Amino acid sequence: MIEQKKQVRDSAGIYDTLPSFAVESLRRSLLAWYAENKRDLPWRRTRDPYAIWVSEIMLQQTQVKTVIPYYERWLATLPTVKTLAIAQQQDVLKLWQGLGYYARARNLHQAAQVVVAQHGGTFPQTLETAMQLPGIGRTTAGGILSAAFNLPVAILDGNVKRVLARLVALPVPPKRAIAQLWQISEWLLDREQSRDFNQALMDLGATLCTPANPSCFRCPWQPMCQAYQQGIQTEIPMTESRAPIPHKRIGVAVIWDGQGNILIDRRKQSGLLGGMWEFPGGKLEPGETVEECIRREIREELGIEIEVGDRLISVDHTYSHFRVTLEVHHCKHLSGEPQAIECDEIRWVTLEEIEQFPFPAANVRIIEALRSGK
Ligand code: SF4
Repeated sequence: MIEQKKQVRDSAGIYDTLPSFAVESLRRSLLAWYAENKRDLPWRRTRDPYAIWVSEIMLQQTQVKTVIPYYERWLATLPTVKTLAIAQQQDVLKLWQGLGYYARARNLHQAAQVVVAQHGGTFPQTLETAMQLPGIGRTTAGGILSAAFNLPVAILDGNVKRVLARLVALPVPPKRAIAQLWQISEWLLDREQSRDFNQALMDLGATLCTPANPSCFRCPWQPMCQAYQQGIQTEIPMTESRAPIPHKRIGVAVIWDGQGNILIDRRKQSGLLGGMWEFPGGKLEPGETVEECIRREIREELGIEIEVGDRLISVDHTYSHFRVTLEVHHCKHLSGEPQAIECDEIRWVTLEEIEQFPFPAANVRIIEALRSGK
C-alpha cells in the first residue's frame, strides 16, 4: 500500500493529501454504502458478458434512464453475440436510432464479428485483448471485465474522474492528470470485490457526487474527501475554458418525384453518422441563399436538377463539437437520374416505407413534420 501511494505521489507531483491508512477505509465504507444503496439496473441482474458489454457501450455517452428501454429492446432482438454478428448493419443502426453517437453501434457490430470469428463467441478475458476490439477503450474494458468476471481491472469514466478528482482535491482539470487518476482508481480498487467496487464508484458519482450540488452529507467518503474538507467540492473538477462551438447552416431537400416518393440517401461509412440515412443537402457557402445552396448541393451530390419550393421546417441540433440548423425545403425533381456521387446508396421511398430506415435525430424531426402534413 505504501509503495502504491508513493507511485501516485511521484508521478503526479500534485497528490500527497490522502493519508496512507485511508485505502482500506475508503474501500470498506464505499462497499458498505453500496450494499445499502445500489441502483437496481437490468445489466446488474446478469453475468452475461455480452449483455454487460452492450450496456457499457450504450452508457458511454447516454444517461441510464434513456439507455434502459434501448438495452431491453436490443437484447430482445439480438440476444447473443452471434445474433449480433450476423445481423445487417441497417437493422443494428435502426435499433440504435435515437441514442446518437452511431459509431458506437457500428463498432459494437464489428466487434461482435471479431469475437465470433477470433474468440469462439466468448468475450476475451484480458484487458489487452478486450481493448483490441473496436469501440472498447480502457474504462469500457474495465467495466465489462469487472462486472462480468469480477476481474481486478480499474475504471475511469466521467463520473469516476469527478469523484476521484474531488477525493484528492485535484488542483488541475482531470484531462491534465489522466495518468494520475488511473493510478488512484487502480490503487483504490478492491481486488477481491472489483465487480461491486467499480459499480459502487459509478453509483457514488451518479447519485451523490453529482456535477452540481453533491450530497456530501450522505456520502460515505466525506470524512476523507479532500475537496469536502476544504469546502471546494463544487469548484472541482476544474474546467478548461472552452471556445464556443461552431454553428453550421445546412440546406436540406425533401425531393418529391411527383408520385408520392421521396429521395433519401445513405451516408458513407466513415465519419459522423456513417451508415445512417438522411435527406440530402449540405452546408451554405458564404453569400449563398438557402435555395441556391440546396440546388447546388443536390447537383453535386446526386447529379440531378430540382426546383426548390416551400420551406418545410427549420431544425436546430447540437452535436458534441458543433451545432447545426437544418433549413428544410420541399423540392421537385426536374431532370436527371439520381446517382450516389457523395453517398453510399440512394432510394425513392414513400412516407410509410421511410420508417424502416435508420435516421439521425435531426432528420427524424423532418419526418415528423412531413407526417403532420406541414
Ligand atoms: S464528500 Fe462530497 S465531494 Fe467528496 S466524494 Fe463525497 S459527494 Fe463527492
